[in-house]
Amino acid sequence: MKRALVTGGAGFIGSHLCERLLAQNYEVIALDNFFTGDKRNVLHLLKNPMFELVRHDITHPYFAEVDEIYNLACPASPVHYQYNPIKTIKTSVLGAINMLGLAKRIKAKVLQASTSEVYGDPEVHPQVESYWGNVNPIGIRSCYDEGKRCAETLFMDYHRQNKVKIKIIRIFNTYGPRMHPNDGRVVSNFIIQALQNKDITIYGTGEQTRSFQYIDDLIEGTIRMMGTDDSVIGPVNLGNPEEFTINELAKIVIDMIGSRSKIVHLPPVSDDPTQRRPDITLAKELLQNWEPTIKLSEGLKKTIEYFDQLLKTSSIEDWKYRNTI
Ligand code: NAD
Ligand code: UDP
Repeated sequence: MKRALVTGGAGFIGSHLCERLLAQNYEVIALDNFFTGDKRNVLHLLKNPMFELVRHDITHPYFAEVDEIYNLACPASPVHYQYNPIKTIKTSVLGAINMLGLAKRIKAKVLQASTSEVYGDPEVHPQVESYWGNVNPIGIRSCYDEGKRCAETLFMDYHRQNKVKIKIIRIFNTYGPRMHPNDGRVVSNFIIQALQNKDITIYGTGEQTRSFQYIDDLIEGTIRMMGTDDSVIGPVNLGNPEEFTINELAKIVIDMIGSRSKIVHLPPVSDDPTQRRPDITLAKELLQNWEPTIKLSEGLKKTIEYFDQLLKTSSIEDWKYRNTI
């Protein structure tokens, strides 16, 4: 039996990953400081004796004997990562150092959840892994973007210098059940607004584009990446290449819910990338023809059901994020 450590295991992506690893007969340790993650995301796993949930902040060292480490801990939405930007960059940089140090010591494989944000506001479209990006180093998104870029550097240096077995995935916008209802991301915001017949808030013109990947497709790609042989280190893009404007997304969500919401345009947010779409040629080549299989309408349906249920059983206020310095 293999043992995996999942940092950020009580978060949106982390909780789905823990579920999948348990289904594959792994023993799983989930580390989380519960800043944006929540025990409710893994409540159904707690009765499984192969699952362990540990309150821990990855800016501090952690020790356990495991075969694989999935380093996901980091607030991911602009609202959350800008709440305490110094903590955000510490989580990316110190967290990477701690997990790489652990991997080195116990000879585990370690996978970094990097992001399409390393491309910044890209001048190359769609984004290929060989593109170095166009990132503002001093803006309000920099704590996240530069933190993730530095983490990639650390992963590569531990690999070159200490032969640590690393994997880097660059995740593009991912959505699905267990997204934080207060995280301000576009899919969760629009669905919650539409379900409540409140105004749909589009920042700027709404002509900026994003490509939305359903959570199950990401988890499949992540598992396949960890399963590649040691020569495959990445970075590899994992995302859905179908591209939508934010205006299009708003209309789709309103139509699917049959909502009476009106669209309102608010001022644009600072450093908001104007376009984003992954080139997934490399992922297909390295990950046994991996590609997203879930259409936006199908994924949105499941996500709408989740938020509909959540709004019926709890209030958004119950999901306030916590200050955990
Ligand atoms: P999330 O906020 O739901 O999950 C992050 C988890 O990390 C939370 O459970 C949070 O409590 C935990 N965490 C934060 N700081 C921590 C710390 N210092 N120590 C321990 N735990 C800490 O977000 P998510 O969408 O699940 O993102 C998971 C990872 O994937 C992040 O690293 C994020 O950067 C990356 N990613 C996500 C997306 C996306 O679209 N969701 C896109 C690109 C990259
Ligand atoms: N966005 C929006 N209204 C919202 C939330 C987000 O128009 O209520 C826009 C945001 O400005 C960005 C896009 O949707 O252009 C995606 O934002 P999100 O925060 O989901 O992800 P990211 O910017 O990290 O891709």
